[in-house]
Amino acid sequence: MRNQIVAGNWKMNKTHAETEKLLSELSAKLPNTHAEVMVAPTYVNLLGAVQELESSTIEVIAQNMHFAKNGAYTGEISADMLQDIGVETVIIGHSERRAYFGETDAILKKKVAAALENNMRIMFCFGEELEDRKSGNHFNIVENQLKEALFELEAESWQRIVLAYEPVWAIGTGETASPEQAQEMHAFIRETITKAYNETIANEVSILYGGSVKPGNAAEIFSKPDVDGGLIGGASLVAEDFVAIIRAI
Ligand code: PEP
Repeated sequence: MRNQIVAGNWKMNKTHAETEKLLSELSAKLPNTHAEVMVAPTYVNLLGAVQELESSTIEVIAQNMHFAKNGAYTGEISADMLQDIGVETVIIGHSERRAYFGETDAILKKKVAAALENNMRIMFCFGEELEDRKSGNHFNIVENQLKEALFELEAESWQRIVLAYEPVWAIGTGETASPEQAQEMHAFIRETITKAYNETIANEVSILYGGSVKPGNAAEIFSKPDVDGGLIGGASLVAEDFVAIIRAI
């Protein structure tokens, strides 16, 4: 049975004090849930978040990492550094990293390898742009993104992968994929993994949907059989909204 997950990507938001406040509100309001709940604060607030959530079931995860172990990479953070402060899961391939920081499939492949080498868990993000969907090329784009970064992995490595399908046109835009569009793509992703590996791996990997999930649309999206939860941006910055989304699963 695959895990259901609700993860909040806080991006470049929240000062130290604001992070502490949001974490304590979340801890206080966290409903009983079978789902894994994760939050990804900024780098400078990761250690504080790990310490604040020491006795909580909420997992603190990282928004990004470099593929090298250490060295002359100004401004970067390694897998070793994340694990050293108790962070075991990292988001790789977010569309903002791809679009604004030039992260190519080849770079992402190296990041995936580095995270796996450290036995970390990866939340791998991918998804098509609006033009791809308009031209009917969205399935090809998604298949290619998976193939380039993940399909050379050993079968066992898939136990450490969580997928987050995030159509770029739905991220931060207020426009959400319909539950049917999400289900259609998630089913396609499982089919693609079945072809590349096998049905067991395809059925066991959790596939989250991301893109303007809010309290008002979460339940319907999560009700789809191949949607195993969500990666939430904007709505995860407000405790009541994030908690409502967790309740929806
Ligand atoms: C995201 O950045 O992963 C995301 C889904 O953002 P939003 O929920 O704001 O669209």
